Amino acid sequence: MDFLTYINRMSEANDQKTIESYKFHHIDTSKCPECENFACEEECFRGIYQVINKDSTPKCVVVEDREDRCVKCHICTTACKLGAITID
Ligand code: SF4
Ligand code: SF4
Repeated sequence: MDFLTYINRMSEANDQKTIESYKFHHIDTSKCPECENFACEEECFRGIYQVINKDSTPKCVVVEDREDRCVKCHICTTACKLGAITID
C-alpha cells in the first residue's frame, strides 16, 4: 500500500469512529460541539432528535424508540448546516 492510500484509509477510519449509527440515521457527532443552533432538535417535527450536553459538549442523539416515526422528509439533513446527519 502506498503512503497516500494509507493516509486515506486512516482518515476514513477516523471519520467512521465519530459516526453514530442507528437503524437508518447516521450522525457525525464530532460536528455537534461546533453547532450553534441545534437545528436537528428544533426542526424535526417528529421529535426524533435530542441534543444532549448543550452546555458542555453538545451531541445529537436519536431518541430511543422514536426512529421509526421518521418520514424521511430530509428537513433535518438540510437544517443541519454542518452536514452531520445522513439518512439511508
Ligand atoms: S446534528 Fe447537526 S444540527 Fe444537530 S446538534 Fe449536531 S451539528 Fe447541530
Ligand atoms: S427526515 Fe424528517 S422526520 Fe425524519 S428525522 Fe429528519 S426531519 Fe425528522
